[in-house]
Amino acid sequence: MRIFILLAVVVSTAAAIVSCSTRSAFSRTEYITLEATGYCKCGQCCGWKRNLLLQPVYAYGPNKGEKKKIGETASGTKAKPKHTIAADTDVFPFGTRIKIPGYGWGVVEDRGGAIKGKRIDLFFKTHKQALEWGRQTVTVEVVRQ
Ligand SMILES: [Zn+2]
Repeated sequence: MRIFILLAVVVSTAAAIVSCSTRSAFSRTEYITLEATGYCKCGQCCGWKRNLLLQPVYAYGPNKGEKKKIGETASGTKAKPKHTIAADTDVFPFGTRIKIPGYGWGVVEDRGGAIKGKRIDLFFKTHKQALEWGRQTVTVEVVRQ
């Protein structure tokens, strides 16, 4: 009986090692259909405004009134067009690479109050470009780290 249990442990451990190595080599790519919107660094998109001293501050939310660095993502990087994606990091953690048809490959580096679940927000250089993207249902390729 004891030998049997030991054997079961060895087999399940071996299976775990195999599935891990297989995953890192091939199958970390997933295809997910989700809603993608566009945003830029402006106050309207990122929830900031200028205070009486004309400093940018959070317009609402838990950090309301605190200074905000324009164009800095929630992970501390500089938001870049055709690169930066905001997502719900419970679903797509920072560093997740996502390929969006019509946008290209991007990396999750930002979060947004309204970006929850199967939704992503794509960073654009200008507000006009973000509006032009609008709201699209797309099937994306997701590569988790
Ligand atoms: Zn904007």
